[in-house]
Amino acid sequence: MARLVLFGPPGAGKGTQATALSKILNLIHISTGDLFRAAVAQKTALGIQAQQYLDKGELVPDEVVIGMVRERLGRGDTHSGWILDGFPRTIPQAKALESLLIEIDQRLDQVINLKVSDDVLVARLLSRGRQDDTEAVIRRRLQVYAEQTQPLIQFYQERQQLINIDGNQSMAQVTQAIEQAVTLLDHSL
Ligand code: AMP
Repeated sequence: MARLVLFGPPGAGKGTQATALSKILNLIHISTGDLFRAAVAQKTALGIQAQQYLDKGELVPDEVVIGMVRERLGRGDTHSGWILDGFPRTIPQAKALESLLIEIDQRLDQVINLKVSDDVLVARLLSRGRQDDTEAVIRRRLQVYAEQTQPLIQFYQERQQLINIDGNQSMAQVTQAIEQAVTLLDHSL
């Protein structure tokens, strides 16, 4: 049982790794990006609100994302553990997650930081072909990451919750490295 945040720049492989790990470790995979893309496709009120931000590579406003995560974590299926993919992405989101977890009496175990070199990131992003993966939007997402998301590394380091993983390795090697780190942690509890 684990409650994890998968953290890293766009193109680090968060989605791929979260999908693999959620199966191996039997955790609920919560991807805020996927939830937004589904809402946009279904043209829900949330989707209509979020679309303009996704299209530009900007972050959806904190209160909107936090509300969505609060709703998702509040569902009954999250008691056996989860993996957050793409959230939190700002300091206010991380602080809101802390308060939310206290409220629902859950605890974040670890934040897995996928460290990937810039060359590998751009190559992965360009080969992915998602609708929001045009070069201009990719560049903006990397900039937004550096400005708003990267400060979370220090935030979680200070709380001694950060585990660094070399994300330049093959997909299977990265999965194995994370799995090992999480299992070690579980046994030390
Ligand atoms: P992702 O699939 O994680 O790369 O997310 C795709 C897009 O969804 C991002 O570029 C943002 O526009 C939006 N998004 C996803 N997660 C968040 C978040 N935690 N905060 C703000 N915007 C988000």
